[in-house]
Amino acid sequence: MNAQRSHELAPEFASRVLRDVPMSKHTSWHVGGPADLFFTPRDSMDLASFLRQLARDVPVLWIGLGSNLLVRDGGIRGAVISTHGALGALACLSATRIRVEAGVPCGRIARQCVKWGLGPAEFFAGIPGTLGGALAMNAGAWGSDTWRHVIEVEVLDRRGMRHTRQPEHYEIGYRSVKGPDDEWFIGAQLEFERAPGANSDAIRDLLEKRKESQPIGEWSCGSVFTNPPGRHAARLIESAGLKGFRIGDASVSEKHANFIINHGAARAADVEALIAHVRDTVARVHGVELTTEVRIVGEAA
Ligand SMILES: Cc1cc2nc3c(=O)[nH]c(=O)nc-3n(C[C@H](O)[C@H](O)[C@H](O)COP(=O)(O)OP(=O)(O)OC[C@H]3O[C@@H](n4cnc5c(N)ncnc54)[C@H](O)[C@@H]3O)c2cc1C
Repeated sequence: MNAQRSHELAPEFASRVLRDVPMSKHTSWHVGGPADLFFTPRDSMDLASFLRQLARDVPVLWIGLGSNLLVRDGGIRGAVISTHGALGALACLSATRIRVEAGVPCGRIARQCVKWGLGPAEFFAGIPGTLGGALAMNAGAWGSDTWRHVIEVEVLDRRGMRHTRQPEHYEIGYRSVKGPDDEWFIGAQLEFERAPGANSDAIRDLLEKRKESQPIGEWSCGSVFTNPPGRHAARLIESAGLKGFRIGDASVSEKHANFIINHGAARAADVEALIAHVRDTVARVHGVELTTEVRIVGEAA
């Protein structure tokens, strides 16, 4: 661990913050080196207190379920804040409105909305991340996306101050959200429609469809690249002959060419080299520049 001077913590946090935590345990690719500090708050007040006492020069990375994150093998300098298992409240506020904390898994939102007779929220079911990650990414599926349902979000800034913001404070696009710097989501109010006939069949059908076309159950981060306008990244990759292409223990999925699989012993460097190879090959073969959807963070080993 470097920059030790910055990592002094107030006594109430010193014993609760883990050090040198392998990020491979917290990402769905199961790769990534150690985080200097790893903190799971008790609730949003606790998280605000943690941020207030953290030296200003310590960078912070918030994570949900790490299902869209490539952490390099050298790990993360600074503090990782994990919302999953922490910010877990989910409540119905009115006939059509719910409040969800950032650490709630998307699948739980989908299932609970069915129970409340709200929809369309089924698209959340197959997204293996948290609401926080879904807000940061504008996660979506089957023609729907997260921000379509956002009424307002609650955020914390780097000093632990809480703010409420509306969608107009953000530039929202396809898998892209730009908002005020150094603020992170702790929750949101989402609006749905009354869907009295909603039942879990629709969720089951969508999950089945995913299983048919995606390598569910293998170690991946879902789609690596966004779809270029009017094109499908997976088709471009497949027709460039890249299905099955392998670097180390990482390969382009045979089932869905926009997925990269860690077969068990891949390093982040293998995955990143494969991403670069796919991008270069598609540019050479098709003249199309692919953009990564996955977020690449941390230091090389
Ligand atoms: C099998 C599989 C299928 C997938 N299918 C889809 C799909 O259909 N549609 C889709 O959109 N995505 C899909 N994904 C990708 C991924 O699940 C989504 O991007 C998801 O929203 C990421 O959520 P997370 O909690 O895992 O975020 P993480 O991966 O932990 O983080 C992703 C980004 O969000 C930031 N972030 C996380 N929490 C917060 C917060 N509270 N405040 C601010 N920033 C935060 C992180 O810093 C990071 O930059 C799939 C992934 C897998 C593995």
